[in-house]
Amino acid sequence: MKGKHSWTGSMRWRIVLIYFLLVFIVMVVVSVFITNSLETYQMNSLRDKLTSTVEKGSFLNTLSEYDDLLNHQEDIQKTIIDTWEFGFSEELSIVDNHFTIVASTNENITGENAAEVLNTSVLTTAIIGGEMAEADGMLSGNIPVKHLVYPFGGEDGGQCKGAVYIRADLSDIYDFSSESKFIFIYAMVLALLITAVLGVLTSKSITDPINNVTEQAERMSYGDFSRGVVVKSEDEIGRLAEMFNVLREKLDLTLSEMSNEKSKLETILKYMADGLLAVDLNGAIIHINPAATQMLDLLPEDIVDFDYDQIMAKCGKHLTMETLLEGSKSGGAQETFDFKGSVFAMRYDRFKDENGQDKGVIIVIQDITERQKLENMQTDFVANVSHELKTPLTTIKSYTETLLDGAMEDPEITASFLGIVDTEADRMNRLVKDLLQLSRLDHQRERWSMKETNLVNILNTAIPKVALTARQKEQHLNVLYDEEAVIPVNVDRDRIEQVVLNVLSNAIKYTNEGGRIDIDVLESGNYVKVIVSDNGIGISEADIPRVFERFYRVDKARSRAMGGTGLGLPISKQIVEEHHGTLTIESQEGKGTNVTMTLPLSFHRGQRGIE
Ligand code: ADP
Repeated sequence: MKGKHSWTGSMRWRIVLIYFLLVFIVMVVVSVFITNSLETYQMNSLRDKLTSTVEKGSFLNTLSEYDDLLNHQEDIQKTIIDTWEFGFSEELSIVDNHFTIVASTNENITGENAAEVLNTSVLTTAIIGGEMAEADGMLSGNIPVKHLVYPFGGEDGGQCKGAVYIRADLSDIYDFSSESKFIFIYAMVLALLITAVLGVLTSKSITDPINNVTEQAERMSYGDFSRGVVVKSEDEIGRLAEMFNVLREKLDLTLSEMSNEKSKLETILKYMADGLLAVDLNGAIIHINPAATQMLDLLPEDIVDFDYDQIMAKCGKHLTMETLLEGSKSGGAQETFDFKGSVFAMRYDRFKDENGQDKGVIIVIQDITERQKLENMQTDFVANVSHELKTPLTTIKSYTETLLDGAMEDPEITASFLGIVDTEADRMNRLVKDLLQLSRLDHQRERWSMKETNLVNILNTAIPKVALTARQKEQHLNVLYDEEAVIPVNVDRDRIEQVVLNVLSNAIKYTNEGGRIDIDVLESGNYVKVIVSDNGIGISEADIPRVFERFYRVDKARSRAMGGTGLGLPISKQIVEEHHGTLTIESQEGKGTNVTMTLPLSFHRGQRGIE
């Protein structure tokens, strides 16, 4: 854009200048040539006219016939005055070979010595050479003249008798010539003015479209693709403008496609659950997505200030840039690390530029805490199941072996041992039943028979089933709710009863003899709560979140002794959640436990018809 404002650098002015110089040179050459030609032509025609006049007729012969010109001075004078019609600009004299002017149209010089008033050298050349001679000269008063000398009387080889001397005034010719020069100068000035105007217009017609293209290109460099170039002609410049428009459209399209792709990619990166980090070979952060920022617990300023190694150092990890580059030498690699109670898997690989040169490393960070927990749970589950099945099996096996080894002989021992075998078989049966139910719940294969039911009826049915056990432990089962109340819920009656029985039997199991168990029902909003509270052994704070884990028991021996499988609460929780409810435990070690089952109330049908 530098040359835009300097007119010397502008193409427009250069075109005008070239035009101008061309016309100037042509005009100068033409004018010099024409004025010179004109001058020469006029000179030649003057000479030819005079020569033909002198040589025409018998004038020269008559003069040759005189023996002594001076003797016929008067005749000759009369002849030239009478015969020769010359204009005012010529002067004709007859000079004899002694250089005496015998006669002249200019009577003032008649009789004078030619050497004094005429051009001697041309006269001498003509008379001695016997040939016509001419020369240009200047008279006093700056009058340009042409001297033309025609010798006569030397035709027979003798000496010339004299010469006709014509002196022609060239002032008119020179005046005409200088006049023509002035005309040419005027014409040139006019032509140059016209050239300048035409040059400006022509150059404008060439440079305007080019300037237009340049302006649009400049606008495009700032990212403005809105305007095209106006195509006015079909010439080279028109085609340039047309191609420029095509280029603009293609560029616009490509750029908008690229920006769409970029924003798509940015959105994907922004919302992807995995963390993504792109670093160059020196470890400078090129890109980091919000998930990675969150996983690595980074502040916005950390991303600006830190490089990869500093970020990792902040996380207390030793996966340095060097390790990454080394690890990704032969393809992608993976590492895992713990940070702030979570487990992360970090997969990384190098990325390359279009020439295949390594440009940096892309790191994808995945939070695998849940996955690992699940894997651990699965492993634990298999171990637990095996263990839970093995224990009763071992007991059964050892008792049957003892019986077979001879203990059968004693009917008392036999009865007692078979009783134990029976109990263990029951336990296995319960365990297998629970496992099967868990599996059905896990795989959504449990058949639900949902029905509008009165929750109070379920409780009224369940409580007597555990009342005997409570009574055996001298515990007080206190029903605090209104046994006549109707609280409609849309549930699978048997499954909810299973939950209530499980919660009640846990309360009985983990409450000492003579303890107290309260059962209450509370309606709040669209929900109903069944609260079973006991003043039993309670659960420590650390164990509370774990009691819903499969096979988790605070006191394994006690639970097993009570016939527990450690699957009751997990199954109950899953059943309640299938009913869109919740099962929660509050407990204080040594003081007691509150188990709350919350279920959504049903208002679909009236209270009539509820079982
Ligand atoms: P279990 O078959 O062992 O009773 P659950 O899944 O029903 O298994 O209960 C898990 C564990 O939660 C029990 O082993 C027990 O330690 C604890 N627990 C459940 N209910 C109570 C309660 N009311 N009081 C104290 N501990 C309880």
